[in-house]
Amino acid sequence: MLSRLRTAGLVDIAEKLDATVRLDFEDGVRLFDAPDLLTVGWLANRERERRHAGRTYYNYNIRLEATNVCVASCLFCSFARLKPGDAGAYTLTLEEVWAKLEARAHQPLTEVHVVNGLHPDLPFSYYTELLRGFKRIRPGIHLKCFTAVEIAFFADLYGKTDEQVLVELKEAGLDSLPGGGAEVFATRVRTKLAADKCDADRYLSIHRTAHALGMRTNVTMLYGHIETHEERVDHMLRIRQLQDETGGVQAFIPLAFHPDNNQMRKLPAPTATDSLRVHAVGRLMLDNVPHIKAYWIATGVDVAQTALWFGVDDLDGTVQEETIYHMAGSKTPTAMTPRQLERLIVAAGREPLERDTLYNVIRSAAVAS
Ligand code: SF4
Repeated sequence: MLSRLRTAGLVDIAEKLDATVRLDFEDGVRLFDAPDLLTVGWLANRERERRHAGRTYYNYNIRLEATNVCVASCLFCSFARLKPGDAGAYTLTLEEVWAKLEARAHQPLTEVHVVNGLHPDLPFSYYTELLRGFKRIRPGIHLKCFTAVEIAFFADLYGKTDEQVLVELKEAGLDSLPGGGAEVFATRVRTKLAADKCDADRYLSIHRTAHALGMRTNVTMLYGHIETHEERVDHMLRIRQLQDETGGVQAFIPLAFHPDNNQMRKLPAPTATDSLRVHAVGRLMLDNVPHIKAYWIATGVDVAQTALWFGVDDLDGTVQEETIYHMAGSKTPTAMTPRQLERLIVAAGREPLERDTLYNVIRSAAVAS
């Protein structure tokens, strides 16, 4: 391997990793620029195995999107509709959302994951009641709901501070925040793609506040559009800095850009090799974030499975009701069963573990590939 590392020009990075010396900005850019993807992947896999050996996590979850009405106009978004009444716009009643959970009474779900559009007319009580209803139906279920962008929107719309919003949602049953809305933190990219969203500092500040309130969060990065390698590394380093402060980030989740049915449809989708590299570099740069997740809906199932040898130790979950990526052209199934996830993991030579949202192991399942 040494000669391969030498040819790839990555010996010094391997030595830093061996000595647990933190990689810096230039190292990150070199990992993106290095032509030898397999050597980058080999380094990332070594870090993955140092932390998790072959263990690979997934959870039994359901995604729900209660409304796609959204006042924002993010260029990459195929999900949102500007106003109620626009073609394809929908807003579910609370009863309709709760019914989706009630209909799955037979499933041993451990998590409900909710992300919505930024609806201008719903009262704040819609969201608090939504959470309370979920807990009435399934008292033990973990509610991972509302991105930091939604929290900022609620604060501005309802005249509250970000912290007040988080406190009131927590009182209503919120357990943690999903990682969506991070996109790319660099101002150049964020103002072009997602000008209506809260800026990077506020996104990170909301995560910081959530951590101080005892909640855990994930952080994403939307890759494969106009961002540079430098902007990717900058994004990762901002997550690493937050994690140094709080320790509250559980997983980094790279999200592949999908170009169908949105304003960026002229751009190609990221390639499989780019997806593998982003996950690998994430593992190498985010030395203080425990988990790197491949969201199979975004990467495609095959790439997510392969990524288990490129730094990834988590395959997200069963998902079940995804619409955001499928409206942007994702060709994956919208759901996988635990058994399907376990088979994928075993076929990749890894050990499947069903986890809860906080990475407590619920079940270890050995199935034939
Ligand atoms: S990405 Fe989110 S905030 Fe942006 S337009 Fe789509 S639903 Fe709205």
